[in-house]
Amino acid sequence: SGRSKLLAAINGNGAPRATLDYKEKNSIDLFGENVFSMAVMKKRLPKDIYKSLARTVENFCLMDASIADVVANAMKDWAIQKGASHYAHVFFPLTGATAEKHDSFLAPDLAGNAIAEFSGKTLIQGEPDASSFPSGGLRQTFEARGYTAWDVTSPAYIMESPNGATLCIPTAFVSWTGEALDKKTPILRSMQALNKQAQRILRLFGDHSDKIVSATCGPEQEYFLIDKHFHSARPDIQATGRTLFGAPSPKGQQFDDHYFGAIQDRVLAFMFEVERELYKLGIPVKTRHNEVAPGQYEVAPVFETANLATDHQQLIMVMLKKIAKKHGMECLLHEKPFAGVNGSGKHCNYSFGNASQGNLLDPGKTPHENAQFLVFCAAIIRGVHKYAKVLRAVVASAANDHRLGANEAPPAILSIFLGDQLTDVFEQIKKGGATSSKEPGTMKIGVDALPDLPKDAGDRNRTSPFAFTGNRFEFRAVGSDQSISGPIVAMNTIFAESIDYIATELEKETGGDPSKLNAAVQKVLKKIIDKHGAIIFNGDNYTDAWQKEAAKRGLPNMKTTPEALPVLIEDDVIALFSKYGVLSEKEMKSRYETYLEQYNLKIEVEAKTAIEMARTIVYPAAVRYQTELAESCLKMKGLNMTGETSVLKTVTGLIKELKAGVEALEALIGHKKSDNLAEAKVYCKKVLPAMATVRQVVDKLEGVVADDLWSLPTYQEMLFIR
Ligand code: ADP
Ligand code: MG
Repeated sequence: SGRSKLLAAINGNGAPRATLDYKEKNSIDLFGENVFSMAVMKKRLPKDIYKSLARTVENFCLMDASIADVVANAMKDWAIQKGASHYAHVFFPLTGATAEKHDSFLAPDLAGNAIAEFSGKTLIQGEPDASSFPSGGLRQTFEARGYTAWDVTSPAYIMESPNGATLCIPTAFVSWTGEALDKKTPILRSMQALNKQAQRILRLFGDHSDKIVSATCGPEQEYFLIDKHFHSARPDIQATGRTLFGAPSPKGQQFDDHYFGAIQDRVLAFMFEVERELYKLGIPVKTRHNEVAPGQYEVAPVFETANLATDHQQLIMVMLKKIAKKHGMECLLHEKPFAGVNGSGKHCNYSFGNASQGNLLDPGKTPHENAQFLVFCAAIIRGVHKYAKVLRAVVASAANDHRLGANEAPPAILSIFLGDQLTDVFEQIKKGGATSSKEPGTMKIGVDALPDLPKDAGDRNRTSPFAFTGNRFEFRAVGSDQSISGPIVAMNTIFAESIDYIATELEKETGGDPSKLNAAVQKVLKKIIDKHGAIIFNGDNYTDAWQKEAAKRGLPNMKTTPEALPVLIEDDVIALFSKYGVLSEKEMKSRYETYLEQYNLKIEVEAKTAIEMARTIVYPAAVRYQTELAESCLKMKGLNMTGETSVLKTVTGLIKELKAGVEALEALIGHKKSDNLAEAKVYCKKVLPAMATVRQVVDKLEGVVADDLWSLPTYQEMLFIR
């Protein structure tokens, strides 16, 4: 059968399919080789121009147009020396993908010669015809053009390919009317908002350095690898990124033997090459290991400023996919490629800090730092509680719905894990403020030092969606295929709002008198923990008891995307994002419509793929097997013996069910509703269950139809053979 040919072609011995000469250059020496970094700019640019650029980078601002020509020229010379013939404005549309438009440096002259040309204008502004990128109604066709402008905080880099190299310029993508059409613009705006509010707290605590406070993020990317032969035989993975059918493999992840196990040579060869390529781009990938499911892995970089981390994260995804192909594999970034085994997430480790104090979510050891830490920590507790629904909405997608709440990933309920000690500190604040007595062990802000908080992974709660991990928070509900932009924008903005609230309270309480600060902090923290403490939950998030308890506490529990996305256009949420200049009402609405559209499209494609596969792959296999069984029965009858008819009956019954299921599914799709939300509800409540019904029948058939007639690679094969 076709499948046995596939298996023969794969060979499955785990040997590397592509090798490189790693001794020629140590991968660490490659770091940043292809980046037009600050260091390169310092060397290549006049001093004053470099300085102006460095200021721009620090302040998350746009570049001063007057220096663009000089910068462009230096960039071009550098790129050409590196072999680049083209440049590309790279941008990040609302689909979550990475998009790029390439142009050549080439400029012909009248004499028939050509020179390389790259002006400041082309550096700060490109004009992609953006009409085919989703804008949720922001961009009518008559104003189809958007423009892309270099985000100076993210350095240009060279992307190498076998027959040429391209200078890539990370850009923000906006409409002519100035609205954000992308995932980058709001990050920069939210970084500014967070900085502005955090400065007020720092000033209260005596840090007048004015050093920019920036959010930091270290995203852990999970992914699956399968052999390309399997991929080419699975139309569902090709079209939708996941298996729509497939009976569970007898061996799944129950032995826990994959997690942190020895990495197979073939996979390791791939990882080494991915890392070398990422090093060249200045991306500090650090950690790699096997994940829980068979065929599942993780890569994590050292954290960076959140805006840069976001671009780098996109590049990590691009590179994983690209290098996997080179090694004869496909990298699956989908949140749930295989039913019944763990899905993939992207834990976003998040903090903020500045150059004078470093990480502001590090509890530190001295009381002064503690109080400041507790203020920021309280801001996060308040923010997550007040806007839990926003954090839920920004991780909503058709794919992530399969994962959230499936007892492998955090539930759709947002809560915070603080750990025993920090929880105890806040408990003391609660009591201390109430009694003002000096009970032994009562935490008084500014007097006692915090107990040492564990920074190791030892007693960590793996089930929490938002966990304090010693010196940062880890947002774990983010999906593996999602851009981390949404989560970062949301965190920056809700924490900016919380910090704003606290700063305002403290400024009021102290009236500019620093000696009143400790008492004021105690008072405000108590108020916050009284009002928002319900968000803290250190227990097991996977249990039913928590679902009930969370409901009692009034925490939102939005299980699906159509429930979660409307949060984006609720009045208080629109007000929040516009107050801090992150996203206007118009922009929020356009995002809401775009994400709904994507949800609908995604499930529509899944349904159509399921129908086609059921009809053209599964049904023929089942009927052939049915015929084989029927012929056998007939032959037995000719010999005056009774044939075995029970399997024939089962197959015949399943064929009927399959036909009925496919017809029912088909009847549900293709009816466009005028309203995206109404359509999404149909996909969620009707189409997905109808797909599940078809799947059930197909998976049963897989268990009875003769193996040589079954052409779809099985779970067992895809997960275990490499
Ligand atoms: P684990 O799997 O134990 O959660 P990893 O080592 O895989 O941890 O990933 C932890 C991530 O957290 C890394 O990307 C790391 O750089 C990041 N991280 C550490 N400190 C900070 C911080 N201050 N801000 C943001 N991310 C951080
Ligand atoms: Mg990890």
